[in-house]
Amino acid sequence: MLLEVRDLHVEFRTRDGIARAVDGVSYAVDAGQTLAVLGESGSGKSVTAQAVMGILDTPPGRITGGEILFQGRDLLGLREEERRRLRGDKMAMIFQDALSALNPVLPVGDQLGELFVVHRGASRREARARAVELMDRVRIPGAAQRVRDYPHQFSGGMRQRIMIAAALALEPALVIADEPTTALDVTVQAQVMDLLAELQREYRMGLVLITHDLGVVADVADRIAVMYAGRIVESAPVHDIYKAPAHPYTRGLLDSIPRLDLKGRELYAIKGLPPNLTRVPPGCAFHPRCPMARDVCRTEVPPLYEVSEARGSACHFWRECLDDGER
Ligand code: SF4
Ligand code: MG
Repeated sequence: MLLEVRDLHVEFRTRDGIARAVDGVSYAVDAGQTLAVLGESGSGKSVTAQAVMGILDTPPGRITGGEILFQGRDLLGLREEERRRLRGDKMAMIFQDALSALNPVLPVGDQLGELFVVHRGASRREARARAVELMDRVRIPGAAQRVRDYPHQFSGGMRQRIMIAAALALEPALVIADEPTTALDVTVQAQVMDLLAELQREYRMGLVLITHDLGVVADVADRIAVMYAGRIVESAPVHDIYKAPAHPYTRGLLDSIPRLDLKGRELYAIKGLPPNLTRVPPGCAFHPRCPMARDVCRTEVPPLYEVSEARGSACHFWRECLDDGER
């Protein structure tokens, strides 16, 4: 396995008390696979990714338990220097906001080229050539001229392609993309997502794709892990989820996707808001918002029940939910 997160716990000290941002998360992704991690903001999906990358701000964030195995090695036992080396070479991250991730006062070609200078000992001339190749690869028209341009001279979609180019420059084994298309308009979103999926296959990378939008992952993900209030509530192969969700929260997310065949029908949105992580409701954290909630849900924390060999659901009534979806 390329990446295995095991029972990860991350806490944040806030003015309101301790927030359990990540509360026992486990997931895995293999080379050539895409895992989509889905959830509303505050569900812990980005914090988990930051823990994997080793860029979690400390303090106030603190990893309080678990393991993060990358190619079999526990990253949490490594020194910062080794982690930094891994980050440059073997794992990379793509952020939502390319404009703040790129240096505004350096031509993009120099920023891409720098990666080859620092990590591969390339000369300036080689680095420039590699930068042009990369920009070509992510389909920036006129790459040979545009390497001299600054980030603000590119459109949002082009900047996001440049971010992808930077992430893939050193051909990392693992890429984590945190809402890579959220800031883009819908048509550009699809193009950028297609490009990312194409490159992921070509390079046989493991990809962790973090998103709040179940609509963007159908064609690109192998598996989906749905997070709520710092936990994984459903984990399954993508086709299983689309066929019939085994958790009411997943069903809510599915029903919120605009569908052409149901045009004109009002979109279902999950009522209420995710909980404050310093005061997570007892029992099933989703119970105040769950249309299926019963008494037991208010007192008993649901474990991740085994729905099938490849699938888990943290709902006491997953069977009912599944039957409902199949009807
Ligand atoms: Fe809803 Fe109960 Fe299942 Fe939680 S355990 S998702 S409250 S039915
Ligand atoms: Mg986030």
